[in-house]
Amino acid sequence: MKTMEELSRSGRWLRQNPDYNKIWREANPGYIKNYNKIRYAANPDYYRRQYIEHREEYRKMHKKWYAENKEHSNQVSRNWARTHPEEIRAYYRNGRLAVLDHYSNGTTACAICGEDNVGFLTMDHIEGGGKKHLREIGRPLAFWLLHQYRKTGVWPKGFQVLCANDNSIKRFEENGYKLAPNGMTKLRSKIRSLLGDCCAICGLDDHRALHIEHLGNDGSEERKRFVGNIYAYYKHILEKAKEEISLFGYCKSYQLLCANHNLEKQMKVQIKEQTKKNKS
Ligand SMILES: [Zn+2]
Ligand SMILES: [Zn+2]
Repeated sequence: MKTMEELSRSGRWLRQNPDYNKIWREANPGYIKNYNKIRYAANPDYYRRQYIEHREEYRKMHKKWYAENKEHSNQVSRNWARTHPEEIRAYYRNGRLAVLDHYSNGTTACAICGEDNVGFLTMDHIEGGGKKHLREIGRPLAFWLLHQYRKTGVWPKGFQVLCANDNSIKRFEENGYKLAPNGMTKLRSKIRSLLGDCCAICGLDDHRALHIEHLGNDGSEERKRFVGNIYAYYKHILEKAKEEISLFGYCKSYQLLCANHNLEKQMKVQIKEQTKKNKS
């Protein structure tokens, strides 16, 4: 054991050579990590207890560290995500499954029709008001719920699992008629009958669940051009569809999909874009 004098001497020496620890760590990469790992593996219960006992202090410490090293920390996370796309996808998949499982009482199925294809399932605000809430939280509802649960240990109440079709029908019954400006309902039904009046994949013909889908990759571009003027947007779709049908005998740019198949397609596109982003 070192005497007090030696300790204070080494303390003084360290103060005079403040970069020593950093240089040593760089010269021995992984040493401390490995050392901590071995210590932890030898007595995991002790460290777990230690953490629970001093949770608040650890949190404060980490918060302070994060505030001082925000850029660096985010860069490390981004790099990790880029090199571990499979883990990231599994994390989101498992998180979403946990949420769906909890809010469907373990059935992982739609509360109305019993649809159990997880690709079709969505989270629903039982009492409505979802649009406003989603704007407030600014991220997918399922991940917000998961985050709340991890933070507080309690699942927020007032949510259920619905398939995208039943969610769409419910939303339409709640405010579909109210939201549609004058003439919109007619315009939409004209477009639907041009496009075959049913889902191009499964043939569902309930208009409350049908969505117009862009076959090209110009959907968001086109929507941007008509932002704030939804009537002109649908008018444009109608004219374009008419023109294409008279030219080619079918519509090249749009098709009708039920909400379920629309959701499935959107998710595929998202995964594709994410993969592309990770590669670049
Ligand atoms: Zn359903
Ligand atoms: Zn369908």
